[in-house]
Amino acid sequence: MADNGWSCLSLSLNVPGFPKSNTVVQLFFSHVLMDLKYFLRANTIALQDNDSICRADDAGDFYLSPCTGKGKSNDEIKLLCEDFEENHPLGRFIDVDLNDAQGNTLSSGKSKPCFFCREKPAIECRRLGSHDDEQVRSLMFRRMVEYCSQQRENGLVKQISSLGLKALLEEISLSPKPGLVDKFSNGSHADMDYQTFLASSAAISGWFEELVRAGFTFNGNDIIRALPVIRNIGLRMESDMYDSTKNINTHKGLIFLMGLSLFACGKLYRQSDQFDTELFRDIIRDICKDLVKNELHFPDGSETTHGEKIFRRYGFSGARGEAENGFPMVFDFGLPQLMAFKVPGEDALIKCLLAISSNNHDTNILYRRGPDVLTAFQVLCRNALENFNTENYTEVTEFCKRENISPGGSADLLAVTIFVNTLIHQDQSKNLTLLSQINDF
Ligand SMILES: [Zn+2]
Repeated sequence: MADNGWSCLSLSLNVPGFPKSNTVVQLFFSHVLMDLKYFLRANTIALQDNDSICRADDAGDFYLSPCTGKGKSNDEIKLLCEDFEENHPLGRFIDVDLNDAQGNTLSSGKSKPCFFCREKPAIECRRLGSHDDEQVRSLMFRRMVEYCSQQRENGLVKQISSLGLKALLEEISLSPKPGLVDKFSNGSHADMDYQTFLASSAAISGWFEELVRAGFTFNGNDIIRALPVIRNIGLRMESDMYDSTKNINTHKGLIFLMGLSLFACGKLYRQSDQFDTELFRDIIRDICKDLVKNELHFPDGSETTHGEKIFRRYGFSGARGEAENGFPMVFDFGLPQLMAFKVPGEDALIKCLLAISSNNHDTNILYRRGPDVLTAFQVLCRNALENFNTENYTEVTEFCKRENISPGGSADLLAVTIFVNTLIHQDQSKNLTLLSQINDF
């Protein structure tokens, strides 16, 4: 090894007592190794990974690889390794060592403080046997579990949020769509286009991570207290949406539905490594329990919003009812259409939209044109779904143009369906830490 004049870099952990390795140590080690590899690459230090050794034996977990600093001296590389140890949250457990091409260990001579007492140098406590190995080990393993859990949370939050944005972009890009804004048409909208939706998607997606994390870290036993938390974030999203669109409502309904979904996912993945349809629906139902009764029933006629007026006039509860019932449009109508395809392409997405809009009492249409136009639209959608061809689909599109309607509520539900479908097919095993690995310990 390193016969080409390269130095050798090694990673190991300071685990006192025996055994030196176990499930959690190995999990932590793989996290640190990944952290180290990114750190080195970012500092233009190359490892020769296909000539590396990575193993766990009686001496513990161990990685060794030839490395070159592309012009950096060994002293500079050693300093960077120390920098990595010092700045890593659990750097005191970690040893990154460097040997030159002749096999000599480069040492900075710096001593690390003991992670247990934080008073004396670690080497002294170890030599004197100042602390009980079992106590040190148990504290160490607890810290490792916390670190791996935090990494798992961070990974999931990023992953779920990016799938939320992907769903929004897939929905808006689907073209042609009846009455809705798509890539080539503004549908029945005079005040917005594809670019408006891109701007709005970018603006609101900045909050997705916060929603997922809020669900992940939600500790209240009373899940009904989650709604104000979600709405607090949702109101800020709305404000950013209006800023990005110059006061046009592109995503208000979506913010409600996706906000709930992202929060529910955070809560779900805290308890599970897999997306669980029933668990997800239960969380949504619990969060939105009695929502229609509490927010749409105004016997005194004091309703002010579109949703409240629609409910009073026609008895349709819109997005609130949909949420209170655990998204039946998504799971009973939209999702089966997407699940029928291995990789849902444009036809699958159009069928999904048609299945939703032939059943959904879209409040956007009701508010603009009333129940007769809505029924006629639903009949055309059902026909286009059952006899799926371009002609029947064009009939739906032409009808929306003629009647100047846009099934915006159904488009929001399509985005949620795309999101859920992706989560169902997402392979969680690529996450470094699985819940089962932490819980087993
Ligand atoms: Zn100590």
